[in-house]
Amino acid sequence: MTQFFSSTLLLWHRQNPIDHAWKKDVLPYNIWVSEIILQQTRVAQGTPYYIKFIKNYPTVLALSKTTEKKLFSIWEGLGYYRRASNMLKGAKYIVETYNGKFPKTYKEIIEIPGVGPYTAAAISSFAYNLPHAVVDGNVNRVISRWHDIDEDLTKQKGKKQIQTIAQRLLEESKEPSLFNQAIMDFGANQCKPVPICEDCMFNKKCKAFLLNKVGVLPRKKQKKAKKKRYFHSFLFTNHLGNIAIQKRTAKDIWQGLYQLPMIETKSIQSIKSIEIKNHFSLGIEPNILKTQKFSQILSHQIIQFVFYNIPLTKEHEIKNKSWTFTSKSKIKNYGFPKTLTSYISNNYILDECH
Ligand code: SF4
Repeated sequence: MTQFFSSTLLLWHRQNPIDHAWKKDVLPYNIWVSEIILQQTRVAQGTPYYIKFIKNYPTVLALSKTTEKKLFSIWEGLGYYRRASNMLKGAKYIVETYNGKFPKTYKEIIEIPGVGPYTAAAISSFAYNLPHAVVDGNVNRVISRWHDIDEDLTKQKGKKQIQTIAQRLLEESKEPSLFNQAIMDFGANQCKPVPICEDCMFNKKCKAFLLNKVGVLPRKKQKKAKKKRYFHSFLFTNHLGNIAIQKRTAKDIWQGLYQLPMIETKSIQSIKSIEIKNHFSLGIEPNILKTQKFSQILSHQIIQFVFYNIPLTKEHEIKNKSWTFTSKSKIKNYGFPKTLTSYISNNYILDECH
């Protein structure tokens, strides 16, 4: 059965070639970049970022020399910024440990900061054709359906079962790189969440199809409800026309990115100008020109933003040392969460055009 699966999968792959921007690049560095970008991002959204990333940082050495601030501005809009800061750590590690040359064994690759079993398997197989099976969401779906794996795939037992089967199938194929690409493409294009079973090459032997379990596999436990958070963000403009920003340093979402000065509350209720004066020690009450609400949905949280446009006059006291005042021409040098970028762009950078 395994041999049938592997050979049929490779046949499907030959008949259904899928063009990825990075497929031409079998350099381990390029594969590393593409795999990290695609970890939490759809291919269509990730491709322009991959192209921009490689243009700015064509080698490990070039990446190792950048700053987190510059890297975050290139990464802006992709989310999960920890991926980018781990890549910077990883590049520095490769330069220090291997003199900038990408390591060639799975054991060495998995030691790179931020590289887990999935990325190590992808780099080892795609760059060096080493026999390590990749297991992502697509592979989970294909194998759990093909083999009728009823385990919860978020738990260790289920993960181990899939990994073992994937590894066995890959070794059977004798084509590690092709097999990994084929099974991921097959999961993304044929055995999709709503699969195309009617014209699938496996439908005479696929257990989920024969047992009528396609709709219930892979098993996953119910997701927890997303936590709601309320961020009141203040677009403070000083008498020179510059705005106040500050770095998010706490161990929380968007750590390392920049934001407008803010107050987090337990409810959406607007904050009054007297509270703004007291919270930021402004000396006198500020004048709120306008407020606007936006939501940003993350994987585990929903952030409800309330924005306040506030001009600061010379009479206001500005003691906060964590603030930086920046001008329109310099703002692009800072990375912000997506909703802040669009708010700042529409309410500060473009305000002269309105
Ligand atoms: S028959 Fe359907 S569920 Fe089975 S492998 Fe093919 S597409 Fe996936």
